[in-house]
Amino acid sequence: MTQSDVTRTALHGETRLPVDTDVQLAPYTTLKIGGPADYFVRAPDGASLDRILTACETLGVPVLVLGGGSNIVVSDRGFRGLAIKVETPTSLRNRGSIVHEDAHGAVIQVEPGCQTAGIARWTAQAGWSGLDWACGIPGTIGGAIAGNAGAYDGDMKGVVKTVTFWSPSRPGSDSLPSRVYTVSGDEMAFGYRTSRLKTPGSGVVLGAQLRLGRATPTELQERIDRFETSRRSRQPTERSCGSVFRNPSGLYAGQLVEQAGLKGHRIGDAQISSLHGNYIVNRGTATAHDIYALMAVVRNRVLLDTGVSLETEVLLVGDWSTDQTSVRDDSASASPEGAYQDARTRPDVATTGGSEPNG
Ligand SMILES: Cc1cc2nc3c(=O)[nH]c(=O)nc-3n(C[C@H](O)[C@H](O)[C@H](O)COP(=O)(O)OP(=O)(O)OC[C@H]3O[C@@H](n4cnc5c(N)ncnc54)[C@H](O)[C@@H]3O)c2cc1C
Repeated sequence: MTQSDVTRTALHGETRLPVDTDVQLAPYTTLKIGGPADYFVRAPDGASLDRILTACETLGVPVLVLGGGSNIVVSDRGFRGLAIKVETPTSLRNRGSIVHEDAHGAVIQVEPGCQTAGIARWTAQAGWSGLDWACGIPGTIGGAIAGNAGAYDGDMKGVVKTVTFWSPSRPGSDSLPSRVYTVSGDEMAFGYRTSRLKTPGSGVVLGAQLRLGRATPTELQERIDRFETSRRSRQPTERSCGSVFRNPSGLYAGQLVEQAGLKGHRIGDAQISSLHGNYIVNRGTATAHDIYALMAVVRNRVLLDTGVSLETEVLLVGDWSTDQTSVRDDSASASPEGAYQDARTRPDVATTGGSEPNG
């Protein structure tokens, strides 16, 4: 029996879920790029997610939590550990359950694997306001909460009442009885595209309650239509991973890229969108290395032109050591900040952001 078989058997024993080995991650990302994970499991709900995370901690297996894969780039060499695909039963994918409803609005309970856009539409149809901005955001509620997703002057911070999450360490108090905690939205440290759960390894969303206001479904649908029209004119339809760089304070990363004359710039099949400078699209067979090299070109050019050092927004997963070396050898350009081994660290957090869809 190989070490891989031993670990797979142990993971299966602890989680009671099917665990696969050597699973390509590209299909689980919106860019459709990325190599294999050593192990792969589907978490059908928050309770099994809790079980899997505890098993990984016991066995010392590194973890990658995958929602919709809409804000990550996985290295061509993949991920050495267990990729957990957070899922939700079909009946709950695009709807939550009502905790409380009155004339002023509602509180709803959502699973981590619920589709953010589906929940936004469901709430608008019910006449609950507060999530209409999210109708065009790919991915899951868990990913949206961890990254405080937002657009058009709205964000998750504005609607989160409580979050239940798995934590590898006890936040604050030794007297807390277990590894699963429920905190209020105020305790989530939400900021511009960040929260206390943003850093990989800091905790995993198992569920949340959202507090929504009241508006008519017609009014909400009109807002959704406006946002969709705006997105269609500004957002590429090709495969992408959303905003690549964070908006520097008071600036838009997309505008800096455009001013640097890089819109449409291409390495292999990776291209800076001609529609939006902060999107890199996969025109067909782009590799993670192509994306990485293009990010390095952007950072380098914007730094030279403006003195602004762009921070990476998208999560770079896995091993990028040879990409870093070859990018340096090719062009002596700066590597994209935030590229790291093993998805453990993130760049520092800025505190401001724009109201544009994804900068
Ligand atoms: C076309 C397009 C448009 C976009 N527009 C916007 C926009 O307007 N505004 C915006 O904010 N974003 C936008 N994004 C980015 C992305 O959709 C959001 O960041 C989204 O909320 C990510 O959710 P996800 O489930 O896909 O997360 P993933 O990409 O799967 O993961 C992103 C990070 O969240 C972590 N994560 C995932 N699930 C959990 C969980 N349950 N608990 C803790 N951590 C978790 C992952 O480990 C990873 O670190 C866009 C992306 C695309 C492709």
